[in-house]
Amino acid sequence: PFEVLVIGGGPAGASAAIYTARKGFRTGVAAERFGGQVLDTMGIENFISVPYTEGPKLAAALEAHVHEYAIDVMNLQKAEKLIPARQAGGYHEVVFANGASLKTRALIISTGARWRNLGVPGEFEYRNRGVAYCPHCDGPLFKGKRVAVIGGGNSGVEAAIDLANIVGHVTLIEFDSKLRADQVLQDKLRSMPNVDVIVSAQTTEVTGDGERVNGLNYKDRESGAEQRVELEGVFVQIGLVPNTEWLKDSGLELTRFGEIVIDTHAATNLPGVFAAGDATTVPFKQIIIAMGEGSKAALSAFDYLIRNEAV
Ligand code: FAD
Repeated sequence: PFEVLVIGGGPAGASAAIYTARKGFRTGVAAERFGGQVLDTMGIENFISVPYTEGPKLAAALEAHVHEYAIDVMNLQKAEKLIPARQAGGYHEVVFANGASLKTRALIISTGARWRNLGVPGEFEYRNRGVAYCPHCDGPLFKGKRVAVIGGGNSGVEAAIDLANIVGHVTLIEFDSKLRADQVLQDKLRSMPNVDVIVSAQTTEVTGDGERVNGLNYKDRESGAEQRVELEGVFVQIGLVPNTEWLKDSGLELTRFGEIVIDTHAATNLPGVFAAGDATTVPFKQIIIAMGEGSKAALSAFDYLIRNEAV
């Protein structure tokens, strides 16, 4: 059994494991895919103190840092079920897809999240070549260019406001007949001179020249007419889904969006269970935030372990 088991091997999980190993705890990390979302990223320019890196390089660095310590890394392991301890100090059990299970006194959950895809032709082919998901990350790459934001909820409208300050022109495209974002955000968006808002529009294809995105086709859902916008970038903002489906019947508190509810110490509603990164209610989903949250969860696990004898 472990003293600390971390589920998830992205920036949050790697950071948590290093911190608890440095406290001398027997630590394990089980991850479906060590490296997490970072593996799907190309250029990273906002990991402070590192002006430029690339996803696979950062993922390799995370792994190398974890291997500096006696951390038991179990890659390609998908957690399917959590059976929490019945009392503080007791053992939590995590059951994996291959039928194996692991026991641990403190558990840190950092299973991250995934962006919801449009599922249209061109989206996958031009990912990182004009199709983007994170305005904080990739906005500056489109300085002076034309982009579309797909999705008129709060994140889509926030992204459009953010991008309108950086890029040349923003077209916001919403499937529904009206935007769902807070009114104050909609008002702000409509006051910006370089923004068009198109509602009742179903994106049908992201097009490109073989190298990069050059436009987007959509169907006007009222007239049925096919329309086209020429542009250089498409930001997909139709939802970030936490990887927490496996926790549904565990008694762990989740929001209606599936985010793990944590307090300022990264503690969940279950004693001895902590959570960090994109899978949680922490505002803003970024690498540097996930790492900070992972270290916070680890230090909280340390506090818990020194206060609760094993039972
Ligand atoms: P994740 O990175 O999502 O890692 C989750 C881990 O949990 C993975 O190892 C996964 O395999 C594992 N896991 C999931 N479910 C299970 C399960 N059931 N059992 C076991 N393991 C499981 N942020 C920036 O700061 N700068 C950028 O430039 C940037 N660019 C991005 C570009 C793209 C294309 C994407 C998708 C994201 C980008 N981000 C960027 C966001 C950043 O990658 C995330 O905020 C960060 O990776 C979150 O870290 P995390 O550890 O919480 O989760």
